[in-house]
Amino acid sequence: MRPVLLFLLTSFLLVSCQSNAETSATVEMYNTSGDMVGTAELKEGADGVSVKLKLEGLTPGFHGIAVHEYAKCEAPDFKSAGNHLDPEGKEHGLMHPKGPHLGDLPNIEADGSGVVDVELMLPGATLKEGKKSLLRGEGTSLIVSDSQDDGVSQPSGDSGARIICGVIKPEKAGESTETPTDPTEFNEEQEG
Ligand SMILES: [Zn+2]
Repeated sequence: MRPVLLFLLTSFLLVSCQSNAETSATVEMYNTSGDMVGTAELKEGADGVSVKLKLEGLTPGFHGIAVHEYAKCEAPDFKSAGNHLDPEGKEHGLMHPKGPHLGDLPNIEADGSGVVDVELMLPGATLKEGKKSLLRGEGTSLIVSDSQDDGVSQPSGDSGARIICGVIKPEKAGESTETPTDPTEFNEEQEG
């Protein structure tokens, strides 16, 4: 192996990792039994965040999918993820005149083998800091539902049970904790 080439490759990888820290995220998707059933690759773009979704084991046909407000996928119902991500107080649905939620996505279709391989778009969303960030706080989550999202019914398009969930969280190592030590702890009065 040529040492110079190895050095260049290593440098390149280091730089790539750093610059991609806040512009992409890989989400592992799990079903209600805790089995990993696919992935979603999120990438920052000029108009929003693209979602490259690969799933297997679904019932053939259409399913609703949306980004939810909390980074918590607790089976079996995934209610821990909260409602659809909606930082602007809109109504649910891509077809709703007062919608959509920031986290609303078009239905996905599983083929006859139960496989989904599609790229979706979240217009206006970002992986960077801000009100419309998918990584705000501890992150958010991506949830697939059992039935089709009708695009207008509140609060989530009458799309049935939540069947697949994946946490969208920062990939950076050493995540910042938001609970700084209380300085007064060190100021306890000493008697004597
Ligand atoms: Zn919604």
